[in-house]
Amino acid sequence: MAAFAFDIDGVLKHGKSHILPGANRVLNVLSGRTPEVLAQKVPFLLMTNGGGQTEDERLKALEGDFGVQFSKNQLVQSHTPLQDYVSEYRDKPVLVCGGEGDAARSVAHSYGLKQAYLLQDLVAWRGNVWDRYHLTAAEESFVRRDIDFSNIPFSAIFVIHDAGLDWALATQVITELLNSDGGRMGTQRQRKKGVPDGKEIPLILTNPDFIWPTDYPVPRFGMGAFRTGLDAVYKELTGCDLPYTQFGKPHTTTYKFAESMLRRHLADIGGNPADPLSGEPADPADNPASDIAGANAYGWVSLLVRTGVYAGGEPAHRPTQIVDNVEDGVMWALKREGLV
Ligand SMILES: [Mg+2]
Repeated sequence: MAAFAFDIDGVLKHGKSHILPGANRVLNVLSGRTPEVLAQKVPFLLMTNGGGQTEDERLKALEGDFGVQFSKNQLVQSHTPLQDYVSEYRDKPVLVCGGEGDAARSVAHSYGLKQAYLLQDLVAWRGNVWDRYHLTAAEESFVRRDIDFSNIPFSAIFVIHDAGLDWALATQVITELLNSDGGRMGTQRQRKKGVPDGKEIPLILTNPDFIWPTDYPVPRFGMGAFRTGLDAVYKELTGCDLPYTQFGKPHTTTYKFAESMLRRHLADIGGNPADPLSGEPADPADNPASDIAGANAYGWVSLLVRTGVYAGGEPAHRPTQIVDNVEDGVMWALKREGLV
């Protein structure tokens, strides 16, 4: 059974609205809408280090982009694997950061987290948490003002996206909570500089990409760049490396989760979810450092396209095949499986 896990940025799209050539065609082919090209449906999903909105919202937008109907099992955003990870935090207070407006709270609620608080809630509680930050009128409309955060023991911090993330406010608050006494704002536990004490509340980051391609001529910083800055500040303050758990490509947890989603989708389209996925779904992608490294490590076929971050030459991680664009990649993989 052939299967595909498509990267989005640099493969199917550039930036917010530019659809790359061939993207609509291949998704329609795999969806079984062009029987003259391919007589069967082939399971596929979209797997991106992007995020910052609920999966339902993103799927709706993607359906508009590509003119294809997707099922809920066909999208893995950087934070989607948290659905299976966050159950232990269901009834505990957590800080969720990133995404436009209060998107982080919507995402957290959609994963079943009942006490999800935002950076803006902390500014509303006490402006001097970071007095460089001023709430906008829109933020005033959604912040929680009924909480005394000096009594809230945060149990974890989730950074779900870098859009809408004020790096300075986030750096200040995350560093404070990692050094706090029991996850309480306004506290600082005793610790020896340069000696990790293992008492930090968990910090979970969901997108390791340092740069990503947009419709601007030079790639832009992603959440990986935010982490680099946070790490440097944390190290300067504590003498220790930033403790964190990373989701998103190239990390294996994300591929494992994507494989389980492909199997659920295979069942949706009438296949047997226990069928071997040829051992190796194909992963058309543009970023050698995240996509190709991750697919190779997980034993998938890695297809490096020339339409995104990769600018030619010897890639940092060697893919199974380099192709000009997503359509060439899909046709190459379908031929390899004997399907066209
Ligand atoms: Mg990409």
